[in-house]
Amino acid sequence: MARQPGSRAKLREHFLANIGRVMDSDELRGVAGANEYGRRIRELRNEEGFPILTHNDRSDLKPGEYLLLSRKPLPAFGREISKELRALVLDRNGFTCQMCGAVAGEVDPYDPSRKTRLHIGHIIDKSAGGSDDASNLRALCSVCNEGARNLTLDRPSSLKLLIQIRRATKADQLAVLSWLKGKFPGDNGQSEQRKKK
Ligand SMILES: [Zn+2]
Repeated sequence: MARQPGSRAKLREHFLANIGRVMDSDELRGVAGANEYGRRIRELRNEEGFPILTHNDRSDLKPGEYLLLSRKPLPAFGREISKELRALVLDRNGFTCQMCGAVAGEVDPYDPSRKTRLHIGHIIDKSAGGSDDASNLRALCSVCNEGARNLTLDRPSSLKLLIQIRRATKADQLAVLSWLKGKFPGDNGQSEQRKKK
């Protein structure tokens, strides 16, 4: 399939002319004049930073629906950060949101109709001088990433965790137990603590 010159530009223009209106794939396919509108949309998102939302970002969008809410480009995550760096950070963080603990691909704890998608976020925001170094990056789910800008939360203490676990249902307590057993097979977590030191 030959790349249609200008299809990205046509899509960009169309999105900018329709800020705030949900558009479906038929409409965008018509605009782009090619079947590869999906790839062009990804380029607009990833290379040009247009915050085009899909059902992965907002539960009120259906698959195949797209929405541009603002012409303001996204902050740099996912653009200036290389695939390798992204993979390294995700791996280091165990594919787990570092604010709420949601795991990539599992059901979103805030919205059971969608799956958790992880982004790479800055620990110290770029606007506050934070760098794109691996040491300043962490995995964040869409929900936390949207609320996380300029805000750094402490990890919950064991006391706070225990309070939450004590008031949970027995089924949820057992789910936590089985998750911990899977994370620390064969010991009670001491080896993991030693590794971190
Ligand atoms: Zn999260």
